[in-house]
Amino acid sequence: MISPSSSIMAVDSTLSSVVGASFSEKDAKALQFIEEMTKNVDSVQERILGEILSRNADTEYLKRFQLNGATDRDTFKSKVPVVTYEDLQPEIQRIANGDKSPILSSHPISEFLTSSGTSAGERKLMPTIHEELNRRQLLYSLLMPVMNLYVPGLDKGKGLYFLFIKAETKTPGGLLARPVLTSYYKSDHFKSRPYDPFNVYTSPNETILCPDSIQSMYAQMLCGLIMREEVLRVGAVFASGLLKAIRFLQLNWKQFAHDIETGTLNPKVTDPSVRECMSKILKPNPELAAFITKECSEENWECIITRIWPNTKYLDVIVTGAMAQYIPTLEYYSGGLPMACTMYASSECYFGLNLKPMCKPSEVSYTIMPNMAYFEFLPHDDSSAQDSSRDSPPRLVDLADLEVGKEYELIVTTYAGLCRYRVGDILRVTGFHNAAPQFRFIRRKNVLLSIDSDKTDESELQQAIENASVLLKEFNTSVVEYTSYADTKQIPGHYVIYWELFVKDAANAPTDEVLSQCCFQMEESLNAVYRQCRVADSIGPLEIRVVKNGTFEELMDYAISRGASINQYKVPRCVSFTPIMELLDSRVVSKHFSRALPHWTPDRRR
Ligand code: AMP
Repeated sequence: MISPSSSIMAVDSTLSSVVGASFSEKDAKALQFIEEMTKNVDSVQERILGEILSRNADTEYLKRFQLNGATDRDTFKSKVPVVTYEDLQPEIQRIANGDKSPILSSHPISEFLTSSGTSAGERKLMPTIHEELNRRQLLYSLLMPVMNLYVPGLDKGKGLYFLFIKAETKTPGGLLARPVLTSYYKSDHFKSRPYDPFNVYTSPNETILCPDSIQSMYAQMLCGLIMREEVLRVGAVFASGLLKAIRFLQLNWKQFAHDIETGTLNPKVTDPSVRECMSKILKPNPELAAFITKECSEENWECIITRIWPNTKYLDVIVTGAMAQYIPTLEYYSGGLPMACTMYASSECYFGLNLKPMCKPSEVSYTIMPNMAYFEFLPHDDSSAQDSSRDSPPRLVDLADLEVGKEYELIVTTYAGLCRYRVGDILRVTGFHNAAPQFRFIRRKNVLLSIDSDKTDESELQQAIENASVLLKEFNTSVVEYTSYADTKQIPGHYVIYWELFVKDAANAPTDEVLSQCCFQMEESLNAVYRQCRVADSIGPLEIRVVKNGTFEELMDYAISRGASINQYKVPRCVSFTPIMELLDSRVVSKHFSRALPHWTPDRRR
């Protein structure tokens, strides 16, 4: 897939000049490919749009806009509207119900990728086509060549990566619906990947592909412990996943030590293929068992990653965006190892990679590869006028024409048939690599709270609070004000909701039992991704902290003292600024937790 280059010496690469030293021919080709793509951003984008429009010219969707065979940017921009998931839902529903006619894409939709973003409380279904796997694989194949420029010797050991597959379902029409990583790990692209000394994992495929996430985690951690001296990098896709693995070790180290001492696998691991592959790896090793017992039984877990895996050069884990909240905890466990955020991707499309993966988390910028899709950008300013701009179509900017320092919302047109689709991510241009802009991930639009892959927006939180406060009626109590906080100080993190209550009759105030039920009712009301994360223990029980009367007025006084306008002041529905947290926490009169798991099954509600 990577276009062949004539020779290593021919690589005129600003990237390879980082070390200027030896790198393999495979790496040279990958780096040269990045150079070609980033130098020719605009022409690549023009070609990609042309390819997408000509192959999908006869789809029902594109015919609707009467492009009449045109594949140029001007016609496309003037005729095809910018859309959200909700706009495409009728088409997506028809495909899900089994309509195989070319609705969005001329190539058959091979499956749906379930995005962690939600619509009406359910995961979004992103249509994809088989060849997209090649594009994803291409982007993956660029990561290690870039990393090798900065970290030598990664071929001398292994990566301990916690990779998991998740539940999959079928749509009424029989198409699979599953997360993009599950689709990738189950594909031959991943399962039959050729041996690459720079990309050897401690986890055998069988452990990654085990559908029971606890057995999978158990086996992957056990392999990591057994091969501890070979491990050169430790990671998971997102920071929350890596922290979950550390917590798992905290809870299960005695069992791991036992397995390693005796050379027998915990009988709770029942998956036959995991048992079989572990039987080849697990041998009695009392010395290692004693080491694990010594390290893990210590009260202090600071630097536990480097204590157990002493040769780790960096953590490979995304800590940008919503994951930035985990940086201090990861620093604590790893003794400040570098955290490499290597790529930026979504269910809709894989976007790009970080060309300086060893930079500080606060400096991470992603370079969008112009061959992945056709990209446009909606200039973003915080005035909400942007959102109501349906009547006058917004002017979108092309990838090659962006300005440093400005913020934009990302819009994609993909081979699988999404046209001018709003991804919902806000990015800031920080600079250029050749002609390709580089982006800092600023935030996802409308997301208030996020602990793992959950994304809760303001209206979902509002609805959940309304549903929960129904339980207060019989106590003549109402919620006067509220705000929220994603508490990630402990693993797993959890949602904290601050409530100021108006209690009419103090003698009949809601009890702890009632307020715990309110917590549960809120959880029941939150979206499917939240509930799934709760059931999988990636999010802890929701907490309500009742604050003293007048607290929210104090909050407003504080904001005004810092320059907020009285006229425009709105209660922040999510807080994280330390002085505000301290103010709120100093006014807490009681704390209540959800006592049960909310309902979740892989099946969609509708
Ligand atoms: P999903 O559709 O569930 O695969 O989620 C994709 C979304 O995750 C993106 O649109 C981003 O909001 C977020 N995301 C993916 N990669 C990164 C990254 N490297 N840094 C920050 N956020 C990311």
